[in-house]
Amino acid sequence: MTDFNELLINLEGVRKLFSAPDRSNHVVLENVNFRLRKGEIVSLLGKSGSGKSTLLRIIAGLIDATDGTVLYCGKRINGPVSDIAMVFQSFALFPWLTVQQNVGLGLEAQAIPVREREIRTLEAIDVISLGGFESAYPRELSGGMRQRVGLARALVMRPDVLLMDEPFSALDVLTAETLRADLLELWAKRKIPTRGILFVSHNIEEAVAMSDRVLIFSSDPGRIKEEVLVPLSHPRDKESSAFKAIVDQVYSIMTQRPLRSAGVDVSSLGYRLPSATPHKIEGMIETLIEPQFNGKADLPALADELQLPDNSLFQLLEAGSLLGFIRIDEGDAILLPLGKIFAKSEMTVRKSLFAEQLMKHIFLANHIHRVLDERRDHRAPEGRFIHELEDFLSETEAERVLEQVISWGRYAEIFDYDYTSGVLSLPKEDSDQSKENIIIE
Ligand code: ADP
Ligand code: MG
Repeated sequence: MTDFNELLINLEGVRKLFSAPDRSNHVVLENVNFRLRKGEIVSLLGKSGSGKSTLLRIIAGLIDATDGTVLYCGKRINGPVSDIAMVFQSFALFPWLTVQQNVGLGLEAQAIPVREREIRTLEAIDVISLGGFESAYPRELSGGMRQRVGLARALVMRPDVLLMDEPFSALDVLTAETLRADLLELWAKRKIPTRGILFVSHNIEEAVAMSDRVLIFSSDPGRIKEEVLVPLSHPRDKESSAFKAIVDQVYSIMTQRPLRSAGVDVSSLGYRLPSATPHKIEGMIETLIEPQFNGKADLPALADELQLPDNSLFQLLEAGSLLGFIRIDEGDAILLPLGKIFAKSEMTVRKSLFAEQLMKHIFLANHIHRVLDERRDHRAPEGRFIHELEDFLSETEAERVLEQVISWGRYAEIFDYDYTSGVLSLPKEDSDQSKENIIIE
């Protein structure tokens, strides 16, 4: 039984639709059900563009949900709530204000007397270890210090609920680690009155290290796909087998790819192709065949070896899987026979294998090749394809996807692209005769 007195945030059936001026509506969130209970830290992981920031903005009262219920302590959220504070990914500080002025800004808006404002501001600055920097300007601070100001600006509100949108992602590894530890200490020692934290993370280990529950978001439309509990006490030992097992579990959920998510399947033009350069794909395949992995790698180990953040790794794994070079199974990347052949081949063979897979498995690549082939001059402006993609994707997403397929197509030499004119064409030797040897089926 749910004790509703224990709920800080309660979302039921939340849906968010953005409407574009010229196109049909874009459903970003669909049927999101979420609860943040007192005493909890919850993290949210998911692909970029899956709607995580949108969800946080809805909870912060910055934007409205299109449908569904959004409650804070049982009350409907209809606009910014003073008990809920948000920390943004980009530091978003006012450059012309000092640290103290930046931190105190939110209190001014609340008509709190000057004296109290000052006390609370200095207290927040102190708690986040910025003492001595009160009169510094943002430009005089390092990235880590600026994010401390961002955090102090939220904490000065003495928020009951703290929302953080990838708060540590713009920081270097060590700085992020320190700031995370500091925040956990403030929380554990009850130095801040905050009763619940929800944060978006781009890093699986960070999410597991900090939170009681990790929620995994799916995309198109965004919804909570799975929840992983982290029943470990703080401080958590990242080297312990219990910790590693949970990290593994999250990796394996995040790489279970339903190729057919809510109507956008891989054989559709609207499929968001992952961002991964041919060079990176080659690098991954070469790494997988190295003796230490021998064709099979645990994902955290592979992320480590390739030195890639999780999000880039996932895109790379998705590209490798779509192209039929690897397969993901329970948190492992496994090199398929074709991947092994690829790894052992020289460049021209690699390119033709890549071309074959592109034409077979990447609908958009095949489509572009066909359009060019059907045209007399075997040329088409990129705008033609961007327009087509915009029936499914936002303008920036359409451009990104086209750019991606172009990088693959050029590597595979199934089509060419002129960066100055933005014209796609069939490679020269290919123009008079379509590549029958490449088009399989
Ligand atoms: P995430 O934080 O998971 O990367 P976002 O919540 O920022 O994802 O965005 C989810 C989707 O909603 C994206 O496709 C984005 O383009 C779209 N989107 C976000 N804000 C707006 C807006 N104000 N108007 C239209 N589309 C938006
Ligand atoms: Mg975001």
